[in-house]
Amino acid sequence: MAQHFLLSPQARTVSILSVASMSEKRAYAKLKRIIWDANGGKPICPHCGGFEHWELDDDKKWRCISCRKSFSLTSGTIFKDRKLPFRKMLAACVIFANGVMGVSACRLSRELDITYKSAWVLLQKVRDALGQDGETAQLAGVVEIDGAVFGGSLPRLPNSKKLWEEFKRKNKAAAKKRQKLIVVMRERDDPQTGKTGKLRTFLLPKEGDAIEIARNILLPDTVVHADMSPQWEPLQLLFNTKRINHSEHFSHDGACTNMAESFFERMRSAERGVHKHISGAHVHRYAMELAWKEQNRRVSNGEQTAMMIRAIGKTPPSRTLVGYWQGRKAKPVGNDNQPGSANDHDDDDAIAYLTGRKG
Ligand SMILES: [Zn+2]
Repeated sequence: MAQHFLLSPQARTVSILSVASMSEKRAYAKLKRIIWDANGGKPICPHCGGFEHWELDDDKKWRCISCRKSFSLTSGTIFKDRKLPFRKMLAACVIFANGVMGVSACRLSRELDITYKSAWVLLQKVRDALGQDGETAQLAGVVEIDGAVFGGSLPRLPNSKKLWEEFKRKNKAAAKKRQKLIVVMRERDDPQTGKTGKLRTFLLPKEGDAIEIARNILLPDTVVHADMSPQWEPLQLLFNTKRINHSEHFSHDGACTNMAESFFERMRSAERGVHKHISGAHVHRYAMELAWKEQNRRVSNGEQTAMMIRAIGKTPPSRTLVGYWQGRKAKPVGNDNQPGSANDHDDDDAIAYLTGRKG
Protein backbone atom coordinates (compact mmCIF):
# COMPACT_ATOMS: atom_id res chain seq x y z
CA MET A 1 0.00 0.00 0.00
CA ALA A 2 1.28 3.45 -0.87
CA GLN A 3 2.58 5.47 2.02
CA HIS A 4 0.36 8.28 3.28
CA PHE A 5 1.73 11.66 2.21
CA LEU A 6 2.00 12.99 5.76
CA LEU A 7 4.20 10.05 6.73
CA SER A 8 6.63 10.65 3.86
CA PRO A 9 9.82 12.77 4.10
CA GLN A 10 8.40 15.03 1.34
CA ALA A 11 5.79 16.30 3.81
CA ARG A 12 8.46 17.69 6.15
CA THR A 13 10.61 20.38 4.63
CA VAL A 14 10.73 22.82 7.53
CA SER A 15 10.84 22.32 11.28
CA ILE A 16 10.17 24.65 14.17
CA LEU A 17 13.72 23.92 15.40
CA SER A 18 15.21 25.46 12.27
CA VAL A 19 13.19 28.64 12.84
CA ALA A 20 13.99 28.73 16.57
CA SER A 21 17.72 28.67 15.83
CA MET A 22 17.46 31.49 13.28
CA SER A 23 18.61 35.02 14.08
CA GLU A 24 16.05 37.83 13.76
CA LYS A 25 18.01 39.11 10.75
CA ARG A 26 17.89 35.76 9.01
CA ALA A 27 14.14 35.39 9.66
CA TYR A 28 13.59 38.88 8.23
CA ALA A 29 15.64 38.00 5.14
CA LYS A 30 13.63 34.82 4.68
CA LEU A 31 10.28 36.64 4.91
CA LYS A 32 11.51 39.35 2.55
CA ARG A 33 12.61 36.77 0.01
CA ILE A 34 9.18 35.09 0.07
CA ILE A 35 6.93 38.17 0.20
CA TRP A 36 8.82 39.98 -2.57
CA ASP A 37 9.48 36.85 -4.58
CA ALA A 38 8.22 38.54 -7.77
CA ASN A 39 11.19 40.93 -7.58
CA GLY A 40 13.77 38.36 -6.48
CA GLY A 41 13.36 39.37 -2.82
CA LYS A 42 13.96 43.06 -3.53
CA PRO A 43 11.35 45.62 -2.38
CA ILE A 44 8.05 46.04 -4.25
CA CYS A 45 6.05 49.19 -3.44
CA PRO A 46 2.75 48.17 -1.77
CA HIS A 47 1.13 51.44 -2.93
CA CYS A 48 1.75 51.26 -6.69
CA GLY A 49 3.57 47.97 -7.28
CA GLY A 50 6.75 49.76 -8.43
CA PHE A 51 10.08 47.91 -8.40
CA GLU A 52 12.32 51.05 -8.24
CA HIS A 53 13.09 52.61 -4.87
CA TRP A 54 15.52 54.52 -2.65
CA GLU A 55 16.67 53.03 0.61
CA LEU A 56 15.70 55.22 3.61
CA ASP A 57 16.72 53.06 6.53
CA ASP A 58 19.25 50.26 6.21
CA ASP A 59 17.27 47.34 4.73
CA LYS A 60 14.15 48.38 6.69
CA LYS A 61 12.47 51.28 4.94
CA TRP A 62 12.32 52.41 1.33
CA ARG A 63 10.81 55.20 -0.74
CA CYS A 64 9.19 54.36 -4.06
CA ILE A 65 10.61 56.26 -7.06
CA SER A 66 7.25 56.15 -8.90
CA CYS A 67 4.77 57.24 -6.21
CA ARG A 68 7.25 58.75 -3.68
CA LYS A 69 5.58 56.95 -0.76
CA SER A 70 7.67 55.22 1.87
CA PHE A 71 7.14 51.63 2.90
CA SER A 72 8.54 48.69 4.86
CA LEU A 73 8.21 44.92 4.45
CA THR A 74 4.82 44.77 6.14
CA SER A 75 3.36 48.12 4.92
CA GLY A 76 0.00 47.70 3.26
CA THR A 77 -0.33 44.12 4.52
CA ILE A 78 -2.42 42.51 7.20
CA PHE A 79 0.67 42.70 9.51
CA LYS A 80 1.11 46.45 9.01
CA ASP A 81 1.19 47.30 12.73
CA ARG A 82 2.97 44.20 13.90
CA LYS A 83 4.90 44.32 17.12
CA LEU A 84 5.91 40.69 16.94
CA PRO A 85 9.54 39.95 16.01
CA PHE A 86 9.92 38.48 12.51
CA ARG A 87 11.28 35.24 13.91
CA LYS A 88 8.11 34.69 15.93
CA MET A 89 6.01 35.58 12.88
CA LEU A 90 7.80 32.93 10.87
CA ALA A 91 7.51 30.42 13.70
CA ALA A 92 3.77 31.16 13.96
CA CYS A 93 3.37 30.33 10.26
CA VAL A 94 5.23 27.02 10.66
CA ILE A 95 3.15 26.07 13.72
CA PHE A 96 0.00 27.04 11.80
CA ALA A 97 1.01 24.88 8.81
CA ASN A 98 1.83 21.92 11.07
CA GLY A 99 -1.59 21.94 12.73
CA VAL A 100 -3.56 20.02 10.11
CA MET A 101 -6.75 20.40 12.17
CA GLY A 102 -5.92 23.99 13.09
CA VAL A 103 -4.04 25.63 15.94
CA SER A 104 -5.70 27.17 18.97
CA ALA A 105 -4.73 30.65 20.14
CA CYS A 106 -4.05 29.29 23.61
CA ARG A 107 -1.47 26.85 22.25
CA LEU A 108 0.20 29.48 20.05
CA SER A 109 0.42 31.89 22.96
CA ARG A 110 2.33 29.30 24.98
CA GLU A 111 4.52 28.14 22.08
CA LEU A 112 5.64 31.69 21.26
CA ASP A 113 5.35 33.22 24.73
CA ILE A 114 2.95 35.94 23.57
CA THR A 115 -0.38 36.99 25.07
CA TYR A 116 -3.54 35.07 24.24
CA LYS A 117 -4.98 38.19 22.62
CA SER A 118 -1.96 38.66 20.32
CA ALA A 119 -2.04 34.99 19.36
CA TRP A 120 -5.78 35.12 18.68
CA VAL A 121 -5.53 38.18 16.42
CA LEU A 122 -2.46 36.82 14.64
CA LEU A 123 -4.25 33.56 13.83
CA GLN A 124 -7.39 35.35 12.65
CA LYS A 125 -5.27 37.54 10.38
CA VAL A 126 -3.58 34.51 8.84
CA ARG A 127 -7.00 32.89 8.33
CA ASP A 128 -8.22 36.05 6.59
CA ALA A 129 -5.15 36.09 4.37
CA LEU A 130 -5.68 32.47 3.32
CA GLY A 131 -9.37 33.13 2.61
CA GLN A 132 -8.70 36.23 0.54
CA ASP A 133 -5.96 34.46 -1.36
CA GLY A 134 -8.41 31.90 -2.72
CA GLU A 135 -11.50 34.05 -3.13
CA THR A 136 -11.26 34.36 -6.91
CA ALA A 137 -10.81 30.62 -7.51
CA GLN A 138 -13.29 29.06 -9.92
CA LEU A 139 -14.28 25.42 -9.67
CA ALA A 140 -14.83 22.86 -12.42
CA GLY A 141 -15.17 19.12 -13.06
CA VAL A 142 -17.27 17.38 -10.43
CA VAL A 143 -18.27 19.66 -7.54
CA GLU A 144 -20.08 18.65 -4.35
CA ILE A 145 -22.12 21.28 -2.55
CA ASP A 146 -23.52 21.13 0.97
CA GLY A 147 -24.26 23.27 4.02
CA ALA A 148 -23.79 22.74 7.77
CA VAL A 149 -24.41 24.76 10.89
CA PHE A 150 -21.65 25.63 13.40
CA GLY A 151 -21.27 27.63 16.59
CA GLY A 152 -23.83 28.40 19.28
CA SER A 153 -23.32 25.44 21.58
CA LEU A 154 -25.23 25.34 24.86
CA PRO A 155 -23.34 26.05 28.11
CA ARG A 156 -22.98 23.17 30.53
CA LEU A 157 -26.26 22.02 32.13
CA PRO A 158 -26.86 23.09 35.72
CA ASN A 159 -26.25 20.48 38.36
CA SER A 160 -29.86 20.05 39.38
CA LYS A 161 -32.27 18.23 37.03
CA LYS A 162 -35.13 20.45 38.20
CA LEU A 163 -33.48 23.41 36.48
CA TRP A 164 -32.77 21.66 33.15
CA GLU A 165 -36.00 22.39 31.29
CA GLU A 166 -36.00 26.09 32.10
CA PHE A 167 -32.27 26.32 31.39
CA LYS A 168 -32.66 24.71 27.97
CA ARG A 169 -35.64 26.88 27.06
CA LYS A 170 -33.73 30.02 27.97
CA ASN A 171 -30.45 29.09 26.28
CA LYS A 172 -31.59 27.25 23.18
CA ALA A 173 -32.97 30.33 21.46
CA ALA A 174 -29.82 32.32 22.26
CA ALA A 175 -27.61 29.48 21.01
CA LYS A 176 -29.60 29.24 17.79
CA LYS A 177 -29.03 32.93 17.13
CA ARG A 178 -25.29 32.41 17.34
CA GLN A 179 -25.35 29.50 14.90
CA LYS A 180 -23.98 30.15 11.44
CA LEU A 181 -24.45 28.29 8.20
CA ILE A 182 -21.33 27.40 6.24
CA VAL A 183 -21.77 26.23 2.65
CA VAL A 184 -18.91 24.37 1.01
CA MET A 185 -18.31 23.79 -2.69
CA ARG A 186 -15.70 21.13 -3.17
CA GLU A 187 -14.12 19.89 -6.39
CA ARG A 188 -13.43 16.19 -6.44
CA ASP A 189 -9.80 15.21 -6.93
CA ASP A 190 -9.01 14.47 -10.57
CA PRO A 191 -8.37 10.70 -10.80
CA GLN A 192 -6.52 11.10 -14.13
CA THR A 193 -3.99 13.74 -13.10
CA GLY A 194 -4.13 13.11 -9.33
CA LYS A 195 -4.70 16.85 -8.87
CA THR A 196 -6.27 17.76 -5.52
CA GLY A 197 -9.61 19.54 -5.85
CA LYS A 198 -10.15 23.12 -4.68
CA LEU A 199 -12.61 24.17 -1.98
CA ARG A 200 -14.56 27.36 -1.44
CA THR A 201 -16.55 28.11 1.72
CA PHE A 202 -19.20 30.74 2.32
CA LEU A 203 -20.99 32.14 5.34
CA LEU A 204 -24.62 32.50 4.27
CA PRO A 205 -28.04 33.06 5.84
CA LYS A 206 -29.50 30.05 3.97
CA GLU A 207 -28.36 27.34 1.54
CA GLY A 208 -30.41 28.81 -1.31
CA ASP A 209 -28.16 31.90 -1.29
CA ALA A 210 -25.37 29.71 -2.61
CA ILE A 211 -27.14 29.26 -5.96
CA GLU A 212 -26.11 32.68 -7.26
CA ILE A 213 -22.56 32.10 -6.02
CA ALA A 214 -22.48 28.71 -7.75
CA ARG A 215 -23.62 30.35 -10.98
CA ASN A 216 -20.63 32.71 -10.76
CA ILE A 217 -17.84 30.46 -9.62
CA LEU A 218 -18.63 27.07 -11.19
CA LEU A 219 -17.67 26.70 -14.83
CA PRO A 220 -20.68 25.91 -17.08
CA ASP A 221 -19.91 22.23 -17.77
CA THR A 222 -19.49 21.40 -14.07
CA VAL A 223 -21.34 18.37 -12.73
CA VAL A 224 -22.84 19.28 -9.36
CA HIS A 225 -23.72 16.82 -6.60
CA ALA A 226 -26.14 17.94 -3.87
CA ASP A 227 -28.49 16.39 -1.31
CA MET A 228 -32.32 16.49 -1.56
CA SER A 229 -32.74 19.82 0.26
CA PRO A 230 -35.35 21.81 -1.76
CA GLN A 231 -32.98 24.80 -1.60
CA TRP A 232 -30.68 23.09 -4.11
CA GLU A 233 -33.43 22.61 -6.71
CA PRO A 234 -32.51 25.67 -8.84
CA LEU A 235 -29.09 24.08 -9.41
CA GLN A 236 -30.77 21.69 -11.82
CA LEU A 237 -31.63 24.55 -14.14
CA LEU A 238 -28.02 25.71 -14.23
CA PHE A 239 -25.88 22.58 -14.18
CA ASN A 240 -25.87 18.87 -14.80
CA THR A 241 -26.94 18.00 -11.24
CA LYS A 242 -27.00 14.71 -9.35
CA ARG A 243 -29.02 14.45 -6.14
CA ILE A 244 -28.56 12.04 -3.26
CA ASN A 245 -31.27 11.20 -0.77
CA HIS A 246 -29.46 10.95 2.55
CA SER A 247 -32.38 9.32 4.32
CA GLU A 248 -31.79 6.24 2.13
CA HIS A 249 -28.16 6.23 0.94
CA PHE A 250 -24.83 7.95 1.40
CA SER A 251 -23.95 7.23 -2.21
CA HIS A 252 -26.29 6.03 -4.91
CA ASP A 253 -26.21 5.79 -8.69
CA GLY A 254 -22.97 7.82 -8.82
CA ALA A 255 -24.39 10.67 -6.71
CA CYS A 256 -22.85 11.55 -3.35
CA THR A 257 -21.70 14.49 -1.28
CA ASN A 258 -19.30 12.52 0.90
CA MET A 259 -16.34 14.79 0.15
CA ALA A 260 -18.30 17.85 1.26
CA GLU A 261 -19.36 15.96 4.39
CA SER A 262 -15.74 14.98 4.95
CA PHE A 263 -14.79 18.66 5.00
CA PHE A 264 -17.48 19.36 7.60
CA GLU A 265 -16.15 16.45 9.64
CA ARG A 266 -12.73 18.11 9.59
CA MET A 267 -14.37 21.27 10.92
CA ARG A 268 -16.20 19.38 13.67
CA SER A 269 -13.00 17.53 14.61
CA ALA A 270 -11.19 20.86 14.81
CA GLU A 271 -13.92 22.29 17.01
CA ARG A 272 -13.98 19.25 19.30
CA GLY A 273 -10.30 18.47 19.43
CA VAL A 274 -8.42 21.73 18.89
CA HIS A 275 -10.43 24.82 19.70
CA LYS A 276 -13.01 23.37 22.09
CA HIS A 277 -15.15 26.36 21.21
CA ILE A 278 -15.57 28.09 17.85
CA SER A 279 -17.47 31.32 18.07
CA GLY A 280 -20.32 31.65 15.57
CA ALA A 281 -19.09 35.17 14.86
CA HIS A 282 -15.77 33.91 13.48
CA VAL A 283 -16.69 30.48 12.19
CA HIS A 284 -16.21 31.54 8.56
CA ARG A 285 -12.53 32.22 9.25
CA TYR A 286 -12.03 28.71 10.63
CA ALA A 287 -13.88 27.38 7.58
CA MET A 288 -11.54 29.26 5.23
CA GLU A 289 -8.50 27.97 7.10
CA LEU A 290 -9.63 24.36 7.05
CA ALA A 291 -10.70 24.55 3.40
CA TRP A 292 -7.21 25.82 2.57
CA LYS A 293 -5.64 23.02 4.59
CA GLU A 294 -7.87 20.43 2.95
CA GLN A 295 -6.96 21.60 -0.52
CA ASN A 296 -3.23 21.75 0.27
CA ARG A 297 -3.07 18.52 2.25
CA ARG A 298 -0.59 17.05 -0.22
CA VAL A 299 1.74 20.06 -0.02
CA SER A 300 4.82 20.00 2.25
CA ASN A 301 4.77 22.08 5.43
CA GLY A 302 7.61 24.26 4.09
CA GLU A 303 5.68 25.09 0.92
CA GLN A 304 2.50 25.67 2.95
CA THR A 305 4.42 28.12 5.12
CA ALA A 306 5.70 29.93 2.03
CA MET A 307 2.18 30.03 0.50
CA MET A 308 0.86 31.47 3.75
CA ILE A 309 3.54 34.18 3.87
CA ARG A 310 2.89 35.11 0.23
CA ALA A 311 -0.84 35.39 1.04
CA ILE A 312 -0.04 37.60 4.05
CA GLY A 313 2.09 39.83 1.80
CA LYS A 314 -0.85 40.31 -0.58
CA THR A 315 -3.62 40.88 1.99
CA PRO A 316 -4.40 44.48 2.98
CA PRO A 317 -4.96 45.42 6.66
CA SER A 318 -8.20 44.06 8.06
CA ARG A 319 -10.81 46.62 9.08
CA THR A 320 -12.23 44.29 11.69
CA LEU A 321 -9.02 43.01 13.25
CA VAL A 322 -6.95 46.20 13.61
CA GLY A 323 -7.41 47.31 17.23
CA TYR A 324 -9.75 44.37 17.85
CA TRP A 325 -8.99 44.12 21.57
CA GLN A 326 -8.90 47.90 21.97
CA GLY A 327 -12.67 48.10 21.69
CA ARG A 328 -13.06 48.19 17.93
CA LYS A 329 -14.64 44.78 17.75
CA ALA A 330 -18.25 45.93 17.27
CA LYS A 331 -18.05 46.01 13.50
CA PRO A 332 -19.40 43.68 10.87
CA VAL A 333 -17.22 40.60 10.88
CA GLY A 334 -16.10 38.50 8.02
CA ASN A 335 -13.40 38.61 5.51
CA ASP A 336 -14.25 42.30 5.64
CA ASN A 337 -16.81 41.40 3.02
CA GLN A 338 -18.79 38.60 4.52
CA PRO A 339 -21.95 39.16 6.55
CA GLY A 340 -22.02 38.89 10.33
CA SER A 341 -23.58 40.40 13.39
CA ALA A 342 -22.02 42.96 15.66
CA ASN A 343 -23.66 41.43 18.69
CA ASP A 344 -22.47 37.90 18.59
CA HIS A 345 -18.84 38.21 19.56
CA ASP A 346 -18.12 35.76 22.29
CA ASP A 347 -14.33 35.84 22.40
CA ASP A 348 -14.52 37.22 25.89
CA ASP A 349 -16.50 34.08 26.63
CA ALA A 350 -13.66 32.09 25.09
CA ILE A 351 -11.18 33.72 27.46
CA ALA A 352 -13.52 33.16 30.37
CA TYR A 353 -13.79 29.54 29.28
CA LEU A 354 -10.03 29.14 29.15
CA THR A 355 -9.49 30.74 32.51
CA GLY A 356 -12.32 28.74 34.07
CA ARG A 357 -14.47 31.78 34.75
CA LYS A 358 -17.39 30.60 32.64
CA GLY A 359 -20.42 29.55 34.65
ZN1 LIG B 1 4.95 53.27 -5.28
